[in-house]
Amino acid sequence: MAEPTAKKRHLVWFRHDLRVTDNKALTAACTDPDAEVLAIFIATPAQWQAHHLAERQISFIHQNLSALRYKLATLGIPLVCHTSTDFKASTDWLVQFCQQQNISTLFFNRQYELNEQLRDQWLQQHCHQLVIEAFDDFLLLPPGAVRNQKGEMYQVYTPFRRAFLPQLQQHGYSSYPAPTPRGEPLNLESDKPLFAHQNIDLGPNYPAGEKAALQKLRHFCQQNVKQYAQQRDIPSVEGTSRLSAYLAIGVLSPRQCINRLLLENPNTFDSSDGDAFSWLNELIWREFYHHLIVAFPDLCRNKPFIAWTKNLAWSSDSTHLLAWQQGKTGYPIVDAAMRQMNTTGWMHNRLRMISASFLVKDLLINWREGEEYFMRQLVDGNFAANNGGWQWSASTGTDASPWFRIFNPTTQGKKFDPQGKFIRQWIPELQRVPDKYIHTPHEWADSQKVILDYPQPIVDHSEARKITLEAFERAKNQQFHDEN
Ligand SMILES: Cc1cc2nc3c(=O)[nH]c(=O)nc-3n(C[C@H](O)[C@H](O)[C@H](O)COP(=O)(O)OP(=O)(O)OC[C@H]3O[C@@H](n4cnc5c(N)ncnc54)[C@H](O)[C@@H]3O)c2cc1C
Repeated sequence: MAEPTAKKRHLVWFRHDLRVTDNKALTAACTDPDAEVLAIFIATPAQWQAHHLAERQISFIHQNLSALRYKLATLGIPLVCHTSTDFKASTDWLVQFCQQQNISTLFFNRQYELNEQLRDQWLQQHCHQLVIEAFDDFLLLPPGAVRNQKGEMYQVYTPFRRAFLPQLQQHGYSSYPAPTPRGEPLNLESDKPLFAHQNIDLGPNYPAGEKAALQKLRHFCQQNVKQYAQQRDIPSVEGTSRLSAYLAIGVLSPRQCINRLLLENPNTFDSSDGDAFSWLNELIWREFYHHLIVAFPDLCRNKPFIAWTKNLAWSSDSTHLLAWQQGKTGYPIVDAAMRQMNTTGWMHNRLRMISASFLVKDLLINWREGEEYFMRQLVDGNFAANNGGWQWSASTGTDASPWFRIFNPTTQGKKFDPQGKFIRQWIPELQRVPDKYIHTPHEWADSQKVILDYPQPIVDHSEARKITLEAFERAKNQQFHDEN
């Protein structure tokens, strides 16, 4: 009698897509009802360290991976977690694992950062015995899908968005349901501890698992999105979705976001100044920065987007850097922002812009210092968005405004936190300062002869502004000399 034919074995490699619903790689692997499906996750601590990944984000990955493993088990798919030091070791282990387990096809969703792309290219080139199926799943549209008339990537956001929307309508954005349960799971050692990490309690804002993430999404699209345009810049109110940490590691997909948004707000596309559209606009910023790192891989090599800004002579004042990191600059809105991030791992978008601008334009400290510090703190750390946000704020990136427009931290504070509600939340030392002086507390303290346990401003904004303008001017002129 002939031997029964061995079943095909498919392997799904989970990376930044820790969910079972709307996951293209998982859906594709489960299409064949007869194939056995296995899943892996490879933790790479040395690589995470090199990419400055925050311990908080690593802990968030761990929590969500536990939830994913449970969910996969209910579908009959065992998840094996392996730890390799770095990407090279991870691919070596993966090749061996595929051989041992007789894997016929490897499925994964693409990552767009340069190191990650090189890792996947290596795999494609060295694994001829394996069929590799890679998918674009992390974004609404794959990088390269939106180009200008010259066939190039846009370098400014607004025209990118204009071209993006019709492309999106044409391409579609349907979500995929979770695969249906398969038979008995394979007997693999998938109940071992996932990977070594520091367990960090992220508080009530970050319940783990896709069910919790989808609930947060639904709640936001039913409620807070209705005032998003007016409230998104006010740090003292819960005006934004707080979904970034879930999007960063793929517990949620952007397709799920847009579908829920349209379900609750069917007229989203009708007006580009409506609340729901404003939120969609932020999701498109996310797309823009990811498309940008693929079109300009030098961004992943620590280079500025605007070449002449490499000539800037940065300050190396480490006391200024430390004061900024610790939220002790003497500028209340900047300090409250930094303390919010240091304590919770999240910072409001308006405050990210203000505190980034302060580091670069008031302290003249290299934006890369800020980029790294943010990455080490943020639970939502994401290379493309962080690099894009930093370079935008530093005027070394894609901001359509010229470099000589500089935020004044005091006026920004007065505009977006007029009564200092947010400031008082994070700087108890300023609790009794009257609203009128909350942004310039020492003026009040001096007039009242009160001693405040809060630092004097570490720089004078108008002087710092002058110094920065001169530094940018010199860097630009140097480019002119270099070219001639
Ligand atoms: C200096 C700086 C650094 C930043 N670093 C990061 C980062 O590491 N990771 C990160 O996800 N975002 C980053 N951002 C963008 C933005 O601040 C956060 O995405 C946002 O504050 C997250 O809160 P939310 O989920 O409530 O956003 P919402 O306002 O609800 O927006 C919805 C989603 O859209 C995306 N998004 C919103 N604004 C932006 C933006 N400007 N650029 C790209 N995507 C955006 C996020 O995925 C966000 O979850 C940075 C911005 C700046 C100025």
